[in-house]
Amino acid sequence: MGRAELAAKQMVQQQLRDRGIRDERVLAAMQRVPRHLFVPDVDIETAYSDHALPTAEGQTISQPYIVAYMTELLRIEPSVKVLEIGTGSGYQTAVLALLGAQVISVERHAGLADRARVALNQVLPGEMGAGVQVVVGDGTVGYPLASPYDRIIVTAAAPRVPGAYRKQLAEGGRLVLPVGDREKQVLTVVDRKKDEFVESQGLTCRFVPLVGEDAWGFGE
Ligand code: SAH
Repeated sequence: MGRAELAAKQMVQQQLRDRGIRDERVLAAMQRVPRHLFVPDVDIETAYSDHALPTAEGQTISQPYIVAYMTELLRIEPSVKVLEIGTGSGYQTAVLALLGAQVISVERHAGLADRARVALNQVLPGEMGAGVQVVVGDGTVGYPLASPYDRIIVTAAAPRVPGAYRKQLAEGGRLVLPVGDREKQVLTVVDRKKDEFVESQGLTCRFVPLVGEDAWGFGE
């Protein structure tokens, strides 16, 4: 077993399984995605460590546990259509794709989107790569073109639930996003049952801000 594979195995056991992540499909996907290819310029041990890590443009790749926790909450079944806001490194995108989701991922920094596309092309088997689209734009308005979505995941901190996400969520769909202030947020789940939206709250977390028309203003 290579160093990266071993580091991934330890990450899954110690950071995920031992801390209560139960979904075997999520655990298997996180074992398979080579996280070090999404965080260039660090050694293998750091890439798989129990931390969020800096990427370009002052952004971060989330801590493995948070990626697993949010993915578990999303209950991905093969071929569900997922809207992801905040592509960042593309690591979370890769995990969703390996679970069989069709992913449209929106990133506001074109440079990050480019890098993420390169990494995703490298790690995803052909047909899964074809199921992933990285789009540059302001994700606070969602991505109406391909709506409705079975799932929506936002990996940047929102001051409230942007209205577009409720509109673009399919009946029976689920939205997961961190809601709070700039320092601290609560992972929030919104389930759509017909035209009713049921909200519940999970872990406390800390994400970089969602910046755009329906979130934090520019320059804030
Ligand atoms: N899930 C990512 C981490 C994302 S960090 C990973 O696995 O690496 C949050 C990302 O959200 C950053 O890349 C940031 O540029 C992006 N972002 C912030 N506001 C956004 C917006 N309005 N639309 C799209 N992306 C946004």
